[in-house]
Amino acid sequence: MARPNKPRVICGLPEYHMFGPKGRRANTLEKVVLLIDEYEIFRLMDHLGFTQEETAKQVGVARTTVQRVYMNARKKIADVIVTGKILVIEGGDYVVCDDDCEECLRPLRKNRKRRQGGRE
Ligand SMILES: [Zn+2]
Repeated sequence: MARPNKPRVICGLPEYHMFGPKGRRANTLEKVVLLIDEYEIFRLMDHLGFTQEETAKQVGVARTTVQRVYMNARKKIADVIVTGKILVIEGGDYVVCDDDCEECLRPLRKNRKRRQGGRE
C-alpha cells in the first residue's frame, strides 16, 4: 500500500526566489523550478553541512528520500549554472516549522502570516 507523502518541514522560506545569468533577458531563457522542499534539503546539506541522517530528522522524511531529493536538487542547480537557465524557487509539498521547533534553523524570516492570508 502506498503511503501518502508527508509534507516536509522547513524552517523558513527562501529569501531569494530567482537566479539567472547576468545580462541575459529572463524571458529568453529556459526556466528550471526548484521546489521549496528541495531547496531546504539542499540548504541543510550544502550550506549548513548536515549529514543525510541529520537532514532526514530535521525535515521529517526517510534518509533515502533525502538522498533522492538532494541529488535531484543538485542536478537542477548544476544545469542552471552550466547551461545558463533561470532558476525559480517555488512550490512543493512543505510546512513551515512550529514556533517550538527545537534547534530551529531559521536563517530566513518566517512568512507564515502571509501564507495563511492566501491572497497574493
Ligand atoms: Zn524550525
